[in-house]
Amino acid sequence: MLITCLKCNKIILVVYYDMLLLNFKGEPVVDGLKNIMEDDVERLLNDLLPTMPNVCNCEICRADMAAYALNRLKPNYVRSNKGELFHKVNTSSIQAKTDLMSVVITAINTIGARPSHD
Ligand SMILES: [Zn+2]
Repeated sequence: MLITCLKCNKIILVVYYDMLLLNFKGEPVVDGLKNIMEDDVERLLNDLLPTMPNVCNCEICRADMAAYALNRLKPNYVRSNKGELFHKVNTSSIQAKTDLMSVVITAINTIGARPSHD
């Protein structure tokens, strides 16, 4: 999305998806917005990690895995329960689930092989 000057109509800022929702301090500009991919990634980590006893399951590694996965998935911001319903319908396809699963498993394997702590 492009932000243009109201007077001269010149482009002053190019904004991408999730930048739009943050001010310069990195705080959300609009209340009640949430990237619901975070919930999906968290849920999958909760499902998968207990089945992988060789992978570190500490808070640091879990946060690293979530960040790794979320940086590779398209964010999906919603502002209401209506939006959440749409998201659930939208990602209920087998392809969307497979993509999500694949990214989270890559995150677990990558971070699990090289934890950022001793
Ligand atoms: Zn760890």
